[in-house]
Parts: sequence; structure tokens; C-alpha cells
Amino acid sequence: MDGYPILLVALIALLLGLAGGKAWERYKLREGRWIDRRKVRESPHYILGLNFLVANQIDQAIEELTEVASLDPAALEIHMILGNLYREKGQVGRAVQIHQSLLQRPKLTKLEHAYVLLCLGLDFKTGGFVDRALEAFNEVLRLDPHNQHAHLNLEKLHEEQHQWGEAYRIRHELARLPDRGQPARDRAILAFLENELGLQALKRMDHAEATRRFEAAIELDSTTVPAHLNLGDVRFDAGDAARAIESWEQILASAPDRAYLAFERLASAYASLGRSDQFAALCRRLIAGTPQDWRARLALARHLAATGCPSEALDLLFDALVQNPHALVLHQTIWRTLSQLNLPTSLVDRYIDLTRTAVFYLDPHICTRCRYRSTELLWQCPHCHEWNTFVEERIAPAKDGETA
Ligand SMILES: [Zn+2]
Repeated sequence: MDGYPILLVALIALLLGLAGGKAWERYKLREGRWIDRRKVRESPHYILGLNFLVANQIDQAIEELTEVASLDPAALEIHMILGNLYREKGQVGRAVQIHQSLLQRPKLTKLEHAYVLLCLGLDFKTGGFVDRALEAFNEVLRLDPHNQHAHLNLEKLHEEQHQWGEAYRIRHELARLPDRGQPARDRAILAFLENELGLQALKRMDHAEATRRFEAAIELDSTTVPAHLNLGDVRFDAGDAARAIESWEQILASAPDRAYLAFERLASAYASLGRSDQFAALCRRLIAGTPQDWRARLALARHLAATGCPSEALDLLFDALVQNPHALVLHQTIWRTLSQLNLPTSLVDRYIDLTRTAVFYLDPHICTRCRYRSTELLWQCPHCHEWNTFVEERIAPAKDGETA
């Protein structure tokens, strides 16, 4: 759901309103009489509205909070939330109208002005009015330079347009805010943005700049797997297979669970140097270190099948299948290897036996933030746009007498 961060902003705005309420005058002169502003918060509609808001029941929340708004038309935060809820419902025009009319109010404090503008920026962003959203968020930062929501939204807007340099600049600013406190996360995202800048430089054929960017990404966060892969690719294309191997093998140390992404590259680089046996040794080391590593088995099996040892390859593939019966690529490689051996009945039977309880996933990668599914590993989620959130969904290997 895309709604969660938006709702969160609504809640934050609400809490801000609660905290700010203390500071606001408790009594207000309106149309010649004093109004006790506490009444708004004591109204049952207020509590109900709040409950519906927390339960994500938007229509009911709108209904109750509209009642509250009529009790005190001056209550800024209630109108701000109502606008956010209309945006949440997809009524962006109405949300824009509400937030724009709030901006017309006289005597808004700087912070109130910034919060209404932030809501308006989110309205424009949701409605796809990128330029107006950018303008609103930049204006928020002018009024409230420490506003993290504005930074994050600006960064995402630039990322969506592949303006990686701008996104980098904004994340860098955000990371330096005194109350930020997430240095590792900020470094990780800066590293991914450096990597994107490197890829952009590659497209321009500027290999020196690309190399510099990939190295900077690794310097920021050594677990940035695509930067290692890309740096190795640049070196390999420049004819330096040995240093390419060095780059790719660094993934084994810094992000071992993603090491498989370098296997094909390593296999061909070692082959180009006439050192294929070293690739086989590497796979054997990985299997010894992590016995459930089915991908290292697959890589070694492919190497063995290609070098005239299909029987040994098949043994490895069957072992790998026990670790992960759902991997389509294993089944394909097994059939290829079995036909290389002219489909011996005993081995085919063994394969059928191993696969009896297998379940097949076509899209095993899943975003831990928004649950978006993908057939391949992605570095940035196309749905929630977060960086490095994909994990591989696996069912435990089938055991005897038990279905997976
Ligand atoms: Zn996602």
C-alpha cells in the first residue's frame, strides 16, 4: 500500500496539532463571543475520527472529522487532515482545494505554513503534478530547513525522474540534519545513488567517471552489491580480468548472501584467464562454508557439466535441489544434464522422487516494505521506491513425510 506513509504524515500532522494546541490560545474570540477550543478535543466526533483514522477507515474518519471541523472552523490541523484524507481517497482536486484555502489564512505561523505546504506538495505528487510538487517541497524547506518529510519527498521525486545528482544532493543534506540519527541508512542510500550516477556515466562512455562513482559507492557502504558488480564490469571491459575478479570477489566478503550475482561473471573471467579450476575451487570453498548454498552448487555443477563431468554435476544439482526444491533454474539445469547423460532411468527416477513435494515460485523476490513481488532481485522497489528492500521468499526444504 502506498497509503501508509501518507497516513503517517496525516497522523504526524494531527499530533503536531495536539501539541501545538497547548500553545494556541485556549479561548478564541469569534463573532463577538469566546469559544473554548478544548471543546473540539472533548467532542466525541474527535475521538471517533481519531479511531477511524488509526483503523484506516477513511470514509468514516472524514465523516467524523467534518463534524469536528464545523465545531471549530479555525482548527487548522483538522482541516489539514481532512485534506489528507481526501487525497488518500483519490480526490486530489478536493485535497488541493482544502490545503490551498488554508494557505490563504492570515496569521499562520511559519511552521504551520510549512506543514500545510507539505500536505499540498503531497497532493500534487499524488496527482502527478511533479513541478508543482517540487516547488511546494522546496518552499517547505525554505520555511523549515530541517523538515525531513520534505527532504524525503523531494529525493523520491528526483529519483523517479532519474535525476540522481539532485537526489544525491538532497539525501546528503538530509543526512547532515542535526536530528537525523540514521547514518548507516543514509550512507547506504547515498551509495546506491552514487552507483546510479556511475551507470549514467557509463551510458555517456565516461569510464573514468563511472569508475570513480562506483568506487565512491563502495567507500560509502561496502555492501552495495551493484557497485561491486559494475566496477568489475568496467574493469573487465577494459581488459583487466584480474582486477574485475577482485571487485566481484569482494561481494563474497561484504555481502555473502548476494555473492551468487557474481558467479556467471567470475566463471567467464576465470575462464578468460585459463584459470577455470580456481572458479571451481571458489565454489567448493563456498559450499564448505555454507552447506545450504544451492547457488554455489549450481555454479559448480554448470562448470563441471561444461568440462565433461556431468555425473558429478548431477550429484551437486540433486544436493542443491534438497536445499531449494523451488528453484526453476535447478530443474532446467538438471534436465539438461540428464539429457547430456542420455536420460538414465535410475537418475530420472531419483529426480522424480526428489521433486514429489516441490512447489514452484515464479516471483520469489518480495519487497519487505510494501510486499511487491518480482521475478528478479531489484535494487529499488518499483512500487514503494525504497532502496535495497528485496528478499527472497523461500519455503523450507521438504523433509520426509512432510509437505513443504
Ligand atoms: Zn516496495
